[in-house]
Amino acid sequence: MLIDLNKLYYSPEGEEVVNIKIWMVLGEGSVFLVFLLTGLVIMQRTIKKEIALVRQQRNFLLSITHELKTPIAAIKLGIQTLLKRKNLPDKQREKLEKSALNNTERLHDLIDNVLLATRIESGQHPLHLIPTNLSDLTKKICQDFELSPGFKGELITSIEDNLTINVDSTAFESILINLLDNALKYGEGKRTEVTLKESGSFIFLEVSDQGPGIPIEERRRVFDKFYRMGNEETRSRKGTGIGLFIVKELVELHGGNITIGTNSDSGSTFIVRLPA
Ligand code: ADP
Repeated sequence: MLIDLNKLYYSPEGEEVVNIKIWMVLGEGSVFLVFLLTGLVIMQRTIKKEIALVRQQRNFLLSITHELKTPIAAIKLGIQTLLKRKNLPDKQREKLEKSALNNTERLHDLIDNVLLATRIESGQHPLHLIPTNLSDLTKKICQDFELSPGFKGELITSIEDNLTINVDSTAFESILINLLDNALKYGEGKRTEVTLKESGSFIFLEVSDQGPGIPIEERRRVFDKFYRMGNEETRSRKGTGIGLFIVKELVELHGGNITIGTNSDSGSTFIVRLPA
């Protein structure tokens, strides 16, 4: 039966008058409105995400330029001095040579991290999982870290013996080194603690520092690629915002997860949970 939209319709009892046209127009109008609002919300979110990404990429470019320029300038100056002043005392000569070597290592690590992030992102970083004594590996990484030239402060370890699981040892090293680097960088030269323990069917690696900590609202975002707290103009610590991105991705490739807690006094605790 065809409905005449201009006609008034009555209920079977003959009391209620139903104007079908009004209801249809209202119905269609509200569906349209819902679609329009949903579209607007989605568009607003996409634009917000794009703006954040562009800002982060700009920050990354600014910081990586700075990160590359500083050690290159230091190396250049060191070599120029060595060449100009041939009769420099041995002690000073050695100091300049060591500084050039440290800066070269800094550049090397930076480029390694950028390449690793790119490989991980494009899914071209397969893990080689082999049974590994994580306790021994963690102890070794911590000892080497303490001996590294830029190390200052105090590193306290509490490592349960003989915790053996399937891991990619190079990836595990990247995870721990990145966390230790941050603890040293943001921990203001105070105490850093590394704990490795088994609980239930998981192994927990915790790295704590006594720096300013990370506010709750930032604890998810710091794992985003290129994300750094604050802004490039006011930030004093060097960095590129890819360290924690690498850490999170590598932990997840192992089937684990990473969270951030607060220390009892101050500072942050990064908690890595790996399936045992
Ligand atoms: P970056 O190269 O900037 O250190 P990361 O990805 O390692 O990059 O860290 C992202 C951001 O998270 C840092 O810029 C810093 O703002 C914050 N952050 C990371 N680790 C710590 C920490 N231990 N204490 C305080 N803030 C931290």
